[in-house]
Amino acid sequence: MPVPFAADSAAEAVSVTGWGRTAPSSAQVLRPGSYEEAVRAVRECGGRGTIARGLGRAYGDAAQNAGGAVLDMTGLDRIHEIDAVNGLVVCDAGVSLHRLMQVLLPLGWFVPVSPGTRYVTVGGAIGADIHGKNHHVSGSFCRHVRAIELLTGDGETRLVTPEDEPDLFWATAGGMGLTGIVLAATVELMPVETSMMTVDTERATDLDDLMARLTAEDHRYRYSVAWIDLLARGAKTGRAVLTRGDHAPLDALPPRLRDEPLAFRPGRLPAAPRFLPDGLLGRRSVGLFNEFWYRKAPREQRGRLQRLSSFFHPLDGLPEWNRIYGRGGFVQYQFVVGHGEEEALRRIVRRIGSRRCPSFLAVLKRFGDADPGWLSFPVPGWTLALDIPAAMPGLAAFLDELDDEVAAAGGRVYLAKDARLRPDVLARMYPRLDAFRDLRTRYDPRGAITSDLARRLGV
Ligand SMILES: Cc1cc2nc3c(=O)[nH]c(=O)nc-3n(C[C@H](O)[C@H](O)[C@H](O)COP(=O)(O)OP(=O)(O)OC[C@H]3O[C@@H](n4cnc5c(N)ncnc54)[C@H](O)[C@@H]3O)c2cc1C
Repeated sequence: MPVPFAADSAAEAVSVTGWGRTAPSSAQVLRPGSYEEAVRAVRECGGRGTIARGLGRAYGDAAQNAGGAVLDMTGLDRIHEIDAVNGLVVCDAGVSLHRLMQVLLPLGWFVPVSPGTRYVTVGGAIGADIHGKNHHVSGSFCRHVRAIELLTGDGETRLVTPEDEPDLFWATAGGMGLTGIVLAATVELMPVETSMMTVDTERATDLDDLMARLTAEDHRYRYSVAWIDLLARGAKTGRAVLTRGDHAPLDALPPRLRDEPLAFRPGRLPAAPRFLPDGLLGRRSVGLFNEFWYRKAPREQRGRLQRLSSFFHPLDGLPEWNRIYGRGGFVQYQFVVGHGEEEALRRIVRRIGSRRCPSFLAVLKRFGDADPGWLSFPVPGWTLALDIPAAMPGLAAFLDELDDEVAAAGGRVYLAKDARLRPDVLARMYPRLDAFRDLRTRYDPRGAITSDLARRLGV
């Protein structure tokens, strides 16, 4: 990706994709190094507009803008202020959660919400209002954001707080970058005594067993998530490995770890091979992997100490793992259906199983209360996320059918993962969409802020 900033230059367009590597489009990528440069980029952008981009971990086309400009925000990466007494950080939007962990953990603070990768920016975390394994306890990221410095499409920079400008704040939370460019934010942190986790693991024999375990015990844990075997069928449908835990207190560490209880040393392997032989991620191999993964997990294990990075971000140890799906890339499908819609979840899991989707990265989680963000994804209920190679025959039609099933159950799909939803279905899933559109027009009469996702879905 080119780095120089020049709003008015004839910088060449380059191909941009999301993490799933599907639906590439060409845009002029500009990398502002100051707020002034970002303001200029918005004020001077052409008719195809501009969109903010963080570390490109959204799977679909949210941080792309065909024929227009993409603002790579990673050049704005200053940490302005840390209040180590009250647990607050003020930083630029391009600062990654990885960097925050490096800086804040030694001070005894952790980010309030962490997704399955720490290579996301604060701006991306706000844009998608990301959730973590602690959603049932802590809600999504923006609940912990005190203030946002927002550059709106009219070229103005505003300090937006949930108290003073609730509409603009909660439209921005999960608004996929479409209310403007987040320049900086103030985020509340969570105190921790160590950088280790205490983890309980158990196996669930099928989907009902899994849901029963999650319902009965989730309230006892800050973090909870289940890996689910979506290739298992019959009596084993929905079998899973459930991991739950919390930050380890100091007195849980063995003496050898107590000297540096807050050390943050995530491991990193060499990058994944660019292209694996065709068929390696086929049904048979993924089926074998899933069988191995399920059996390898302890039937029940309590209080195991685990590094924070292994617990939260196991995939970050393998850079560029998204390339293992080959040139065609992959789709991540994540949806949520509410409590009381368990039958819809069962049906969908059975359908995925009978389609034999070769998915080895599938997780089920139980969300807590809905978040106030107008387009925030979480609602109380069950969320399932799975990876599927984009080359799977009949995938588009199959996912359209799942969308209809999810919408009929009052559920929704997650826009940060999406590359293919239809606009009519979006409106059924997100009831505040019209209010969101109105707000955008108010703050961005020229339509300067836009993206491939916005055009595809008519947002
Ligand atoms: C391995 C993996 C695991 C993941 N696990 C989770 C998970 O557990 N929970 C979860 O919620 N998500 C998860 N995600 C998705 C990821 O957290 C979100 O897509 C996040 O938005 C990515 O941040 P980014 O900095 O890479 O932003 P990008 O992908 O570059 O952009 C994402 C969106 O944020 C907007 N945006 C980015 N920066 C700004 C800014 N400065 N101002 C305004 N808008 C901005 C963009 O316009 C775009 O709409 C995961 C992704 C991966 C690859």
